[in-house]
Amino acid sequence: MTTKQILVTGATGKTGSIVYQKLKQNQNFEVKGFARDPEKVTELFGSTTGFYFGDIKDKSTLESAIKGCQGLVILTSSFPKMVAPPKPGERPQFEYDADSTPELVDYQGQKNQIDAASAAGIEHIVLVGSMGGTNENHPLNMMGNGKILIWKRKAEEYLVNSGINYTIIRAGGLLDQPGGSRKLLVGDNDELLNNPPDGIATSIPRADVAETVIQALQERSAINKGFDLISYPEEDSQGAVTQDFAALFAQTTAAKF
Ligand code: NAP
Repeated sequence: MTTKQILVTGATGKTGSIVYQKLKQNQNFEVKGFARDPEKVTELFGSTTGFYFGDIKDKSTLESAIKGCQGLVILTSSFPKMVAPPKPGERPQFEYDADSTPELVDYQGQKNQIDAASAAGIEHIVLVGSMGGTNENHPLNMMGNGKILIWKRKAEEYLVNSGINYTIIRAGGLLDQPGGSRKLLVGDNDELLNNPPDGIATSIPRADVAETVIQALQERSAINKGFDLISYPEEDSQGAVTQDFAALFAQTTAAKF
């Protein structure tokens, strides 16, 4: 079997770094990372070998990284900062830096990645997004008035219309907990968020999202699919931990908007 070369953007992020490590350990793949900060990369991975540096807002910095790859994993995201510690009884206020708004990072920055991938002849893009995007008034959209989930969905739509094979994983609330010990659940357009089975929390460990990305790169049943992803709590997953990802992806459909 020939190895596939995969570029992971957002490889210094909490989920992106797990995906990068998993691909590095998988003999089916050769992995490259894309990041902004060499110091952060060295801190996380011990060296900058295999990394390309740039900013997704500048498409030209993506071109050399993506050249020669067959797959792209998009794990970049904007994130708001707290304006100031909240006064007792008040909700914290958030804002985005003017050069890092969701429109610039989650829409334009992802569009740049998709365009660069298209120009480089990439075969498959796996994009990790977020549940909640069907609700304009979702609290995450209100944060810093950034409409982050709306911009993420616009980028997803751009990916679908690009004609490149895609897998869009809209994750539930991300947990920093071990992976591989839960039953995973897929859904469509926030149905799980609005009506979770058994009233479970609509969350999932980052490690399980990362494993789903790796599996999506290998399973034909993940091609041209867009789905929400959450997990049952570990204690309720006994005997039903997800292992057959082909079967999981077979339950999903093309992304709908
Ligand atoms: P994260 O830790 O916030 O990582 C974001 C990554 O994007 C970092 O590597 C960051 O680089 C990079 N990045 C940001 N702006 C960039 C730019 N202009 N150029 C290049 N790189 C840039 O991500 P996460 O918390 O693991 O989340 C992964 C995905 O899941 C995101 O799309 C997120 O929205 C989504 N999600 C999150 C939650 C949640 O509960 N947090 C729930 C559902 C879905 P630096 O390291 O240099 O900053």
